[in-house]
Amino acid sequence: MGMKKIVGIPSALMYYIYYPFWLAFFNEIGVEVVTSSRTTKTILDKGIREALADACVPIKLFFGHVMELKNKCDCLFIPRVVCLNGKTIYCPKFLGLPDMIRHSLDGIPPILDVRIDARQGRLSKIKAYLEIGSYFGANRKAVLKAYCKAWITLRRHKRLLRKGLNPLEAMELIKNPNRKKSILPAKSNLKFAVLGYPYSIYDNFINANLLDKLKKLGVSVLTTENINPLILALQKNCGLPKRLFWTFSDAILKAAHYLFRHRRVDAVLHLTAFGCGPDSLLNKFIEMEAKQHKDIPFMTLMIDEHTGEAGMATRLEAFVDMVRRRKEAYPCRN
Ligand code: SF4
Repeated sequence: MGMKKIVGIPSALMYYIYYPFWLAFFNEIGVEVVTSSRTTKTILDKGIREALADACVPIKLFFGHVMELKNKCDCLFIPRVVCLNGKTIYCPKFLGLPDMIRHSLDGIPPILDVRIDARQGRLSKIKAYLEIGSYFGANRKAVLKAYCKAWITLRRHKRLLRKGLNPLEAMELIKNPNRKKSILPAKSNLKFAVLGYPYSIYDNFINANLLDKLKKLGVSVLTTENINPLILALQKNCGLPKRLFWTFSDAILKAAHYLFRHRRVDAVLHLTAFGCGPDSLLNKFIEMEAKQHKDIPFMTLMIDEHTGEAGMATRLEAFVDMVRRRKEAYPCRN
């Protein structure tokens, strides 16, 4: 296996959904994994300094996480994830991520940038992981075993998400099953949907602790990841001539469609990032859906690198207060 023994995975973007898979895979083929820490002001500042000025904040953050990791690993795992379901693709910025990093940052270790595109045949995902395994000198049998184990871990992670946990809590529970009671979500009489990309919703630093703030205000939260994918699939194209091209955006629109139409929540929040191309379309479609369900309050929250705790707290307190009063005044509506 030579010198390439520690692989670095930035705790940003796809990390929130696929880290359990990657960790299980690499561990099984005997490769050590190191991640960057949770986002901090230093990581954000590094990202802002190094990334293109007009990039969205999640991409800037990714740069910061790479900077934090670059001296701690022998190679960086930044796959070129194009498509995983054979139908929708990831945001174009994901596709160009390895190139952006390679050509913008100095002194970084080699980048493992295997392309993963499920539209290129049923075995394309396995082939991508065989390529990764061969980079570390793992034989075919070991890679296939690791791939199966990784899938089992990912399915376990997804099951925990459907029980109401967020991805970080689910990762913690897989690592430490004894923590079950303290992690399982508490019930509340006010339930909000928080819709947005996993890397914005679950990164507490960049969203100024949105989920914790809601919890402290007595609100339980439902996210796209908590909804059974079969329910999302049943929403088809959400009344549009065709589905949205981008995987996360498509799932979020389906979640909005389902939650509004089935009246599953007391209010809907859409968390969007300044400078996000797909969101300029997605937010419009969610707004159009919200207008058809005026009895379910809807609010868009935009984050950027200047998002602060105080501004977020004020908006959330006012919104929660309004929804609570409304629910008390019209208890039968929900
Ligand atoms: S979907 Fe939007 S927020 Fe996410 S990486 Fe693409 S442009 Fe940035």
